[in-house]
Amino acid sequence: MQSLTNRKIDVNRSPMTFAEKIYIPEIARGMAITLKHFFKKKATYSFPEQKRPFSSVFRGLHVLNRDEQGRERCTACGLCAVACPAEAITMEAAERLPGEENLYREEKYAARYEINMLRCIFCGLCEEACPKDAIYLSETYTPADFARKKFVYGKPDLLIPNPVTEPEAYQKALGRNVETTAEAFEKLKK
Ligand code: SF4
Ligand code: SF4
Repeated sequence: MQSLTNRKIDVNRSPMTFAEKIYIPEIARGMAITLKHFFKKKATYSFPEQKRPFSSVFRGLHVLNRDEQGRERCTACGLCAVACPAEAITMEAAERLPGEENLYREEKYAARYEINMLRCIFCGLCEEACPKDAIYLSETYTPADFARKKFVYGKPDLLIPNPVTEPEAYQKALGRNVETTAEAFEKLKK
């Protein structure tokens, strides 16, 4: 009967030849296939020592941005939280006090800003919604952890280092000296 896929193969039930009975040619054929793969380009990465290159459109860990004077850009308008389809962002706004102009660029700032990384789907809508260029998705990724509560990232985890007081850390956070996977693991061990 004709099969639907036309991929049916009839089993060969003819008696084995002498060469088939001694198996050696088949073993040699199998070894040749194995050997052929030794010289092929590896399709895998030796994780965690070797880091996989990111795609040009990779969206990683969120960063809360500062301006060139080191002031926080976020004005706690809440647009990122409204745009977030996963409802991963929460914040509390506060009024800037006299004398805090060097800390916060706008009159209102986020006293608390949290992203639940277990909810986040890294869609980037928060970045697109932000009118102050205050949040962006960097080229670093969220490191693994064992406790769920550690995936709720607060301001200390998200805020970019101050470009005036910590220029090196600032450049690294921009992805110009992206931390390797091995470094991320070292950090986790501490
Ligand atoms: S990347 Fe998408 S899911 Fe994640 S916090 Fe931003 S808007 Fe929400
Ligand atoms: S990150 Fe941008 S959109 Fe979100 S609250 Fe701050 S200023 Fe508004």
